[in-house]
Amino acid sequence: MSSPDKQAGSRFWNEKTRLLTPYVPGEQPRGQSFIKLNTNENPYPPAPEVEAALNTLPAERCRLYPDPDSLALREAIASYYGLDTEQVFVGNGSDEVLALAFQAFFEPAGPQDKPERAVVFPDVTYSFYPVYARFYNLNWRTVPLNDDYTLPVDALLQPSGGIVLANPNAPTGIAADLDVIERLARQDPDRLVLVDEAYVDFGGQSAVSLLAGCDNLLIVQTCSKSRALAGLRLGFALGSPALIEGLKRVRDCFNSYTLDRAAQAAGTAAFAASAWFEATRARIIASRRRMTAALEQLGFEVLPSSANFVFARHPLRSGASLYDDLRQAGILVRHFNLPRIADFLRITVGTDSQIDEMIRVLKRLLL
Ligand code: PMP
Repeated sequence: MSSPDKQAGSRFWNEKTRLLTPYVPGEQPRGQSFIKLNTNENPYPPAPEVEAALNTLPAERCRLYPDPDSLALREAIASYYGLDTEQVFVGNGSDEVLALAFQAFFEPAGPQDKPERAVVFPDVTYSFYPVYARFYNLNWRTVPLNDDYTLPVDALLQPSGGIVLANPNAPTGIAADLDVIERLARQDPDRLVLVDEAYVDFGGQSAVSLLAGCDNLLIVQTCSKSRALAGLRLGFALGSPALIEGLKRVRDCFNSYTLDRAAQAAGTAAFAASAWFEATRARIIASRRRMTAALEQLGFEVLPSSANFVFARHPLRSGASLYDDLRQAGILVRHFNLPRIADFLRITVGTDSQIDEMIRVLKRLLL
């Protein structure tokens, strides 16, 4: 039931606000301490270079607005990927960057809607995409993933008004090969292909190398996962200068300063911290392999993951009941009560001791 305050407020909601279906992020528990494997955060602290940058942030400078162009950060990202600074856009988490891209590049719904002009994305993918599509009232449709949860390449090659993919996909963790992305991008140079590479550093192949030949490709990445900066909100897009300018045009219609001084400084330091980055992602990939093997031993079917999580189901237990039992035992994972995936749990790769504890609890639950 809604609280009296909420009811009182609702009479001021306009029709659009009343009809919204907002995205619901994974739980961020307060108080009770959980083994938290539900939002794909990095289990390790960020690089020492990031800590140093935050510790030496001059408080006195906080009276001044941050650089609206985040130039130092964009230069650091550009040099890391061998791109020009004009090919880099940064935002307050990749959710914001994705929202701007949906708004900037795809066509609104209208009376003349044609399915072949709709922006498409898979039926099983990051559940924020349909939220954006509805929020911006776009002409959109989904294409079903294959039965094994891989990309339906032939369906995606059909005419559409744009393609949005997460690669590796969420919440399956399955990665598509680069030649698939290349085929999709080259099929129609006038169709935008947006590739969300939030998890690419854990084993996927980035499409950055395709940018030189495909000006219809926009790559979105985040510092929340492989760089352990979820708490600072830092995402970015890589693409042609014209696409980057499009994102900036939309951003500058609602907020010129989306990245504060702390995020800019920490992000710049994060891209210089290559030793930490390589060691940490290798550690997470090794833990994922161990965790996958342990889950399989318990009878789980685990989809082949190239991300910092696995998507797994057990033949004898429903996803919802396992989720509840794990929560009761102090372990938080993610369960999506959605068609085709309600039997699965999405489990973030934690530290080795977190994984050991989770496996110990699952063993007991499955007895
Ligand atoms: N894309 C995908 C596929 C994700 O899973 C997430 C994390 N929920 C994001 C984007 C957003 O990440 P952030 O806003 O923290 O950069």
